[in-house]
This record gives sequence, structure tokens and C-alpha cells, in this order.
Amino acid sequence: MKIVITRHPALVQYLIELGLITSETPVISHASPEQVQGKDVIGVLPLSLAKFALSVTEIPLALTPEDRGKELSIERLREIAGSPSTYSIIQHLTCKKCGKTAFPYEQWADGTALCWDCRDNPVY
Ligand SMILES: [Zn+2]
Repeated sequence: MKIVITRHPALVQYLIELGLITSETPVISHASPEQVQGKDVIGVLPLSLAKFALSVTEIPLALTPEDRGKELSIERLREIAGSPSTYSIIQHLTCKKCGKTAFPYEQWADGTALCWDCRDNPVY
């Protein structure tokens, strides 16, 4: 399921023009982990929230100093918008056995992790 995170109406209109979303796609201005969990998010998210999303798609904007701090029109957005780019963010966890920061890893119910080296040679 897609969700858009933005405070800018022109961006929503632009996303509809691109065919990335429909007018039915939920749009919110501020995200919580629960709201982005497992979703395909379009917009700007801090990495600490992006890790909960299935994917995050950004529209890169070639902003000039004059563009900053003001509401952009749809016409200006069309001029400065680049191709949508989609990312998946995965947090690396610290292995509870060797202490290395690891990915991939096996995550345990208590939130700790074992790196794959330690996972293959478990000491219980
Ligand atoms: Zn390890």
C-alpha cells in the first residue's frame, strides 16, 4: 500500500500527473513508525522512520536558493523535479556475541541480533 508524506499540495498533484499515486492515495504531513510500517512511502523520511517502510520513493528537486522556504507551484515543480528514486533502508544491528555491526543478521525476539558468522556457529 502506498502512502505520501508531504505538506506540499503541488507535490501531490505532481505525483498524480506522474501516475505514481491516485487521488485516493493517503497523504499525511508527519509520519509515525506505525503509519509507515510495511508501506511504499513517497516523500522525505528520516532514516529512523524509513527503516519501517517497505520502500521510500523520493522525487529529487533541483532547488535553487530562491526556491527554498517558499511553497512551490506545480509549474516550478515540473521544471526542477528529477526522476523518482526508490530505496529500501535496512538498519544494521550489533551482534550480541561478537559485537560487530552486522547485516545480514538473525534478530531475536528481545531485539538483539546475531551476525551470520555467529549464527552459523552458535554457542548456547
Ligand atoms: Zn557475531
